Amino acid sequence: MNSIKICIVGSGPAGFYAAQHLLKKLPTSKVDLYEKLPVPYGLVRYGVAPDHPEVKNVINTFNKTASHSNFNFFGNVSLGVDLNIKQLQDAYNIVLLTYGAAKDKTLGIPGEKLDNVISARRFVGWYNGNPEDQDLNPTLQPSITILGQGNVAIDVARILLSPIDQLKETDITDKALYTLITSPVREVNIVGRRGPIQAAFTIKELREMIKLPNVSTLWRETDFEGVEEIVTKLQRPRKRITELMLNSLNSQKDIKRICPKIFSPIFYRSPIDISESSVKLAKTMLMGDSSSSSARAVVTNDVEFLKTDLVIRSIGYKSINIDPSIPFDEKLGCIKNEDGRVAPGLYTTGWLGHGPTGVILNTMNNAFAVANHVCDDLNNNKSLGENKPGSEYTLNVLKEKNIQVVKWKDWEKIDEYEINEGKKLGKCREKVTDINKMLEIAS
Ligand code: FAD
Ligand code: NAP
Repeated sequence: MNSIKICIVGSGPAGFYAAQHLLKKLPTSKVDLYEKLPVPYGLVRYGVAPDHPEVKNVINTFNKTASHSNFNFFGNVSLGVDLNIKQLQDAYNIVLLTYGAAKDKTLGIPGEKLDNVISARRFVGWYNGNPEDQDLNPTLQPSITILGQGNVAIDVARILLSPIDQLKETDITDKALYTLITSPVREVNIVGRRGPIQAAFTIKELREMIKLPNVSTLWRETDFEGVEEIVTKLQRPRKRITELMLNSLNSQKDIKRICPKIFSPIFYRSPIDISESSVKLAKTMLMGDSSSSSARAVVTNDVEFLKTDLVIRSIGYKSINIDPSIPFDEKLGCIKNEDGRVAPGLYTTGWLGHGPTGVILNTMNNAFAVANHVCDDLNNNKSLGENKPGSEYTLNVLKEKNIQVVKWKDWEKIDEYEINEGKKLGKCREKVTDINKMLEIAS
């Protein structure tokens, strides 16, 4: 019998978990994982905060999948540049797109393109060593305002305000560490357009922020009017995080001495204009049930100027459409699909398939579900199982284009190099941040 040839594009959690499940359910299939960068793991390597190394343990599971004899990793191959969808469809029975969300949502307000406004996605990529973000080289400032209140905003605030001792042995790049050591940051505001009950950050991340040594968390009392009255009626996770905020607010009244650094969450404010020295915020009101996460923010005519030196936009990521033949929902910023199905033999999952939210666990569950649909479809539609050449075809195309394909054993050389470089600096790893250098080590 022919072996089913499957290709997956994007080696983040969605790609790896889908590969794991497909190899388990279809043990005779061949699974080829293509990745734009010479290195694997997507946002586990370039998103997850360096001071959360335990989250990166999922890499052990991915490495186990990579050791399967029917699995291949083809790094340094970009879909839409080096190969197109048609070529993948010619070569494989199943094409599964998991290339994530490589752009930012934007606010669309005046001043957003000023030099003092940077993207949280790029800032995170910069401190995590993503080669694509090394040119950001941010100049940190005493007062920084982050727009958006998701966990990415919290990650960024924590990295900016953490004592250096908590970062210096992590895999944060040495360059970023130096910038932070010499940083003048004194105050980080995080601004949300809705209220405390709608905040997008989660309890573990908030607790970590509140407990940071040498940092005072300062809430605005007016943001919590009416919150105490409804807190007992909230569902358990929302109740617990709201209680944490209220406790922190109450303890702030007893503070005798404000720490040298300040973390300041601000609610009910929507940015409407940015200048070199401030953000103009419109006060908002909630429409709908104000105790529900679905309440909407509506701007009022009341405005406030928040003085700040640097603005970091953290309102979410966005996927891009790589090939005009793929049906794409521009508004949601993801591929149009039904339970991961895009067209016969073409699937999507991960942030590209369901939008740029969800932790690794959500991404894993979705990847497993879509992998199950692939198996069902292969069972029910025999025409999907016709003989296909797989990587024999694509590797020829790449060879003709002179593309240096990075295989798993090549990545292992880069991995070893980084760990050794890290040892010299007393860190768990020092990432290579230049693609040519990666390719040189790999070859
Ligand atoms: P990604 O991880 O983005 O993977 C996509 C992959 O596709 C990347 O490797 C990319 O290089 C590749 N690619 C892109 N374009 C192409 C192309 N054209 N051709 C080939 N390959 C391509 N979750 C947690 O559980 N805990 C955390 O602590 C946590 N921290 C996070 C911190 C940040 C800053 C962010 C943004 C997210 C965090 N998450 C966390 C969420 C988690 O990272 C996501 O759920 C998960 O990474 C989504 O997986 P994905 O595979 O869909 O996308
Ligand atoms: P997010 O959780 O969706 O948060 C986006 C934030 O931006 C929200 O506060 C949102 O407000 C705000 N926003 C969106 N559009 C806006 C606009 N036009 N004007 C003003 N504010 C706007 O996105 P994220 O922070 O990028 O995180 C993405 C996912 O990764 C999340 O699921 C997150 O949990 C996960 N993640 C997890 C961790 C972790 O586990 N430690 C770390 C980082 C990321 P509204 O709520 O009002 O829309």
